[in-house]
Parts: sequence; structure tokens; C-alpha cells
Amino acid sequence: MKISQIATHRASIGVRPEMAIKGSRGHHRISPFLIVRVDTDAGVSGVGEATTMPVWSGETAATAEAIIHEILAPLLIGHDPADIESIDRAMDRAVNHNWFTKAAIEMACWDIQGRAAGRPVYELLGGPCRSRTIPSRFSMAAYDPETAAAKAVERVGWGFTTIKIKVGTDPREDVARVRAVREAVGPDIALVIDANCGWDADTAIDCCRQLEDCRLSLVEQPTPDGDYTSLARVRRSIEPPVMADDMCFNRIHALELLRHEACDVISVYPGKNGGIRKSAEIVRLAAEHGVACSIGSNLEWDVATAAMGHLVIGLENMQVERFPGDILGPWYHQQRIVTQPLVIEQASCTIPELPGLGVEVDWDKLASLS
Ligand SMILES: [Mg+2]
Repeated sequence: MKISQIATHRASIGVRPEMAIKGSRGHHRISPFLIVRVDTDAGVSGVGEATTMPVWSGETAATAEAIIHEILAPLLIGHDPADIESIDRAMDRAVNHNWFTKAAIEMACWDIQGRAAGRPVYELLGGPCRSRTIPSRFSMAAYDPETAAAKAVERVGWGFTTIKIKVGTDPREDVARVRAVREAVGPDIALVIDANCGWDADTAIDCCRQLEDCRLSLVEQPTPDGDYTSLARVRRSIEPPVMADDMCFNRIHALELLRHEACDVISVYPGKNGGIRKSAEIVRLAAEHGVACSIGSNLEWDVATAAMGHLVIGLENMQVERFPGDILGPWYHQQRIVTQPLVIEQASCTIPELPGLGVEVDWDKLASLS
């Protein structure tokens, strides 16, 4: 089987206003998606999604589309879609970084393999390690304390038992926001904070000490991108476990985190890591060092969310039971473009037991949105 064509479709989809995310990196109100279809000479096609946000990775739907058509598609036509390592090597030799763009093609190749074999992608990753219904936390914007408290209570009413609060804006407001949420939701709800690189080490340590009575379950990415030493210092100085997210795109980043003993948990997902295989590589490496992984997100649509789900189901070290991740992206959006949207309810997302990624894009609907 050989890749015969790669087609792309852009769609900018609004986030439901009541769900809009605001963190240290600003607002997320629109998601500029690029849906990718990889066709083969055997008549089997696969789909992928580039969930582009320039503030995250420097990519946009337009750059992803241009890189695919000008560089990656000409290079990959004729390649065996089952040989993901060789596809990764070819893409990495031709284009530096651009993780989400490469991930879109890579996940489509997994989809092709699964469809051709009649098996879900999690089976190809080694078989299911956990339920296909994956628990998720609710990720909440950096609202003022009163709004944050009211929304947190509402989310708990929807069934969430872990609430992630965005911090990393103004330290005094951050502390007030977290304290207001703890007081509103009571002692039994797990609270996580995510600074998205918005603090430095001293600020992070100071804020976490002020919040000791709020009993945080996890402190996510408190320090700047690339600063392994500072993250390690925060980890040594505070009680709650520390998660690295925004600074771990590839295997080298993961290795540096492990060498510095900088974190207890690494957040991974196929888009950020450049594909399912590369995410899995980080997850296995972390397991060898006794470091947990969980699933992160850039507010994906159904296709990339399915790819995330297969990774969680197929790899034992994706410890979502201890550290619930973010796997609710499609639910945040005003439109869905698959014929059977993933079931997202009761604070969890269920991945279907179907071949490949298990989702079918409604191409007519997608064309109407493009
Ligand atoms: Mg994060």
C-alpha cells in the first residue's frame, strides 16, 4: 500500500462563548483547524487534524496547509503509510518543528493502518490498558475570583471531580482565584493549577506556599519554556506533584526533564509531540524513569481527540486515573464535523471500538464550513 494523495481542508470554528479559555497566553475564542485526508493506492484513506494555535507552536492552518502541499505531500507520495518511522524521518529531515502539522499526517497514517487491518489504533499500540471511557478534568479560564467560584460550582454539578484553574496572570489574583474556588467547591474536589509558563520559579514557589491550605493535587507548567533547572527547583520546594506540559514537545525535551528530575508527570498529546508514535515514545521513556504521563490538549476537534484517546487506551503509563487530563476539546466547539461525534458526557470521553481512529469526517459539512 502506498500514499497516493494528501488533501487538506481548513475550517475556523468558534469556541462556545461560555467555554472560552483565558490563561497566561491570552484568549482562545476561535480554533483554526486543518483537516487532512491521506489517500492510498489501495483505496483506504485516513484522516488527521492539525489543531493549530500560533501562540503554542508558531503554526497556523495556513502554514500547516502550505507546508503539507509544498513540502511534505510531494515527499510522502509513494511511501508506505504503515512505515511511520520512515515517514517521521522524512518529515523531520525536510521541516523543523511544526509538530501539529506533522501530527495530522502521522495520525492519518495510523488511521489507514487500522482501517486496513480492521482494528482500532489502540490495538496497534499494543492493546487496551484501560477503559475506552477516559476521565477528564475541567479546564477553567483565569476568571475573577467570584466568577471562577461560581463556574467551578457549576462544573462540579456537571459531574467533574477535578477542576483545573488557569493561573500565571497576576500572582495576587491567581492566589485569590484558586482560594475562591476551593472555598466554593469544598474539600472533596481535586484542584489543579496551570500557569502555562506564566510564572518564574520564585513566584511559583511563593504562590504555591500561599495556597498550601487549598491542597492542590497538581501544579502544571509553573515556569518558563526551556528552563528545566527552575522547574526542578519548584518541584523540590513544593508539596504537590509538578507537571511539565508547554515545554515538552519532543523526546529530547522529555529526556532533559528526566535528567533534571524536574517533574512528576509529563503531559503529552499527538498534536504537540508530532504524532502518536512520538507521544508513545515519550510515554514509554517516562515509564522507564518512574514518571507518569497524562493527556494534554490544545482544544482539538473529534479527529485529533480520537488520536489522543487511542494513546491513552493503548499505553499503560498514561495515568489518567491518578492525573485526569484534558480530553474534551470537541465539546467546547460550536460545530462538530464527524458523522458520529465522540461521546463526551459525565466528565469523560468515550473512544469507539471501531477500526482506525474510529471517526468518519462528514466531508460535505466540512466543505460548507471551509
Ligand atoms: Mg497545560
